[in-house]
Amino acid sequence: MANRIYLCLARMSKAGMEQKYIQEAFDTNWVVPLGPNVNGFEEDLKQFVGGNKEIVALSAGTAAVHLSLLACGVQFGDEVIVQSFTFCASSHPVTYLGGTPVFVDSEPDSWNMDPVLLEEAIEDRIVKTGKKPKAIVPVALYGMSYKIDEIMAIADKYDIPVIEDAAEGFGSRYDGKVLGTFGKYGILSFNGNKMITTSGGGALICPDADAKKEIMYYATQAREAYPYYQHEHIGYNYRMSNICAGIGRGQMTVADEHIAHHKHICKLYELLLTDANGITLHENPSERYDSNYWLNTILLDPNLHVVGEEHAYEIAVQGAVGGAAGVTHQAASLHTNCEPNNNVEAMRMALDKAGIESRPLWKPMHLQPVYKNNPRYENGVSESLFKRGLCLPSGPWVTDEDVQYIVKEILACIE
Ligand SMILES: *Cc1c(COP(=O)(O)O)cnc(C)c1O
Repeated sequence: MANRIYLCLARMSKAGMEQKYIQEAFDTNWVVPLGPNVNGFEEDLKQFVGGNKEIVALSAGTAAVHLSLLACGVQFGDEVIVQSFTFCASSHPVTYLGGTPVFVDSEPDSWNMDPVLLEEAIEDRIVKTGKKPKAIVPVALYGMSYKIDEIMAIADKYDIPVIEDAAEGFGSRYDGKVLGTFGKYGILSFNGNKMITTSGGGALICPDADAKKEIMYYATQAREAYPYYQHEHIGYNYRMSNICAGIGRGQMTVADEHIAHHKHICKLYELLLTDANGITLHENPSERYDSNYWLNTILLDPNLHVVGEEHAYEIAVQGAVGGAAGVTHQAASLHTNCEPNNNVEAMRMALDKAGIESRPLWKPMHLQPVYKNNPRYENGVSESLFKRGLCLPSGPWVTDEDVQYIVKEILACIE
């Protein structure tokens, strides 16, 4: 993969700690979904998030979302309020349980769940369905915190649990406190492109030891204490493997370094884009926010003219966004109901040609065909951001020289 500059690729510790922990697992024959690495990784994560929560390591962040919803009592026919501006892993697990995601739009400061619309949505769902939504899922999109004070105040007022989707916000803080520790549950992801990786994996931040025990029970097929298999509930096979956890333990030795690097890359983009008219870098809206800048993102003014924008969307893209090439359906048409502006697509293509991966912002869930019938509370913010935005390379392999080159190429394609 040499030469091409990617958004965020996994990078192992220089000391090779990941291999050391994996070797230990082989040497002691702990090649199973439990063991010393799983326990050690959970302990590392517990300290990382402040020491007063419990952690369950799982096979994916999506599994963590699924089990947290289960623990909040989500059942067939229930509604869950989910931030619309997100990756599908925030909302899909609601449907796994037979529930309905109710989508709430974003506010323009953090780009995350709008607290005003959230309260409107809760009131309206109570009127329309006669019952309260079972949980509220705000998302730390690209690492940026949500307005947690306002969201927690509303959640407390209506007594609805908050599940923080901090999959992209590993190590981000609000008022100095790590994301994922404000709500009842917190989601972490260790997919290959996240802040740290276990090749694939996730974790659930739990309020206490009892909650952790219950999550572990459901993550290991819900077995009862008998000398034979006895099942009284439906469970899942979601525990993290001891091999993956070994990678995670190694990654924890460089987690702070990775986060500092992403923030450094943000500062460089800020400096180099200072005079770029029509391009706005998304940054912490106030001192209270402390984003990990997992992905740095820019907005393009719709009036900005980018070379080749007349030819945007003329050819079908091969494969899909996010490394899923080979497992996609053929696109039915060149256009969909809502897509990034032509200048954004032209810039994406120009950067691609220059060996730079960039990506449109995530298409809001309320605009996805699969959710066309779901209730939504909109203000146009996420749709407008989606049309104007682009994610830029930000990961641990991106060098200062890369950032200079990326900005040079960005400026070169503007007419
Ligand atoms: C990555 C991600 C998840 C979890 O994804 P996994 O790939 O299953 O670990 C959840 N929510 C958001 C917003 C994400 O970006």
